[in-house]
Amino acid sequence: MLFKEIIGQQEVKSRLLNLVRDDRTPHALMLFGPPGAGKLALAVSMAQYLACAERQPGDSCGQCPSCLKFNKLVHPDLHFVVPVLKTTRVTRDPVSDNFMEEWRESFLANPFISESQWYEAIGAENKQGVINKEESLQIIRKLGFKPYESEYRMIIIWLPEKMNQAAANKLLKLIEEPPDKTLILMVSESTDKILPTILSRTQLMHVPPLSESMIREGLQEMGNHDPQLVEDAVRRSSGNFNTALQALRQDENEMHNFTLFTTLMRLCYSRSIIEINDWVDQVAGMGRERQKLLVDYSLRLLRENFMLHMESDALNHMSRKENEFSSRFSAFIHAGNINELVESFSGAGNHIEANGNPRIILMDLSIRIIKQLMQKAPQAG
Ligand SMILES: [Zn+2]
Repeated sequence: MLFKEIIGQQEVKSRLLNLVRDDRTPHALMLFGPPGAGKLALAVSMAQYLACAERQPGDSCGQCPSCLKFNKLVHPDLHFVVPVLKTTRVTRDPVSDNFMEEWRESFLANPFISESQWYEAIGAENKQGVINKEESLQIIRKLGFKPYESEYRMIIIWLPEKMNQAAANKLLKLIEEPPDKTLILMVSESTDKILPTILSRTQLMHVPPLSESMIREGLQEMGNHDPQLVEDAVRRSSGNFNTALQALRQDENEMHNFTLFTTLMRLCYSRSIIEINDWVDQVAGMGRERQKLLVDYSLRLLRENFMLHMESDALNHMSRKENEFSSRFSAFIHAGNINELVESFSGAGNHIEANGNPRIILMDLSIRIIKQLMQKAPQAG
């Protein structure tokens, strides 16, 4: 991870660079601040810079053997400690080393990973991880070895507030009498849950939330160019880049579902069987989870359209685009077909859930919709 790959945080970056340049790297350094500000990525960049063989004034070189290992988080002098817990795979005495494969994959896919995303990645949703005493003993053991390749041994402790009392006491001892050429880099989201004696022996550096303009720029640099989606994600982020990313992904899925649903309705209305067949092929290849989301989305939009048909000025929960489409489409969704349409989509959802053949389920659904859209609205009175 190069410093320049991390959005914003210029001030923190130059403070970190200065520490290394002026040879003032402390034994223990803690980056703290709100989630989604880039603390973990900054910690990895700092360690990489310290180990880089061809250090540039403002960043690691990115090409030396050490940097190449950092790119995959496999440098032998870089260690991670993260909160873990028992899972179906690791059923007793879990420590970070049991989960390094998942950790590397998760961090490299999203350096802004949140605590709950991490638990999800190791198959332990809705549970709380911990850093236990066994973990601290392992740290001490690892720091007992000489560095393999670089001058420093580096340990990044993600969320030290997750340490239990025994682990924290062991770490405190280590920070009080640190081995030479060791950097303990901690990344914390709530320093109030950390032993004051650890804090007082650690150099603290605050990492502030990202500004809206930095988040906007970051999203655009990742190739997100739809200005409306980007703005919506920025607005929902409150300085947390991870939240912005999730909001954007969710919006993109909604947009994709909107396109698929409206296309199917148009094709069914015009009874374009050949194009319906193409649509079925496309959706059949999407995977079950995505298909189920499309069914849920379709059900929501059908219900909204029925409400709109019955009471055109009723409050609804549709986006601007959905409203535009529905202002015309709602004429075709009425008391004469809404129940059957809902049953068709729900039935398709159930069959998808039960591992039915998606092509057959979707083609059957399309044929039902063709008939149901032709139904006349019941005459009033
Ligand atoms: Zn390098």
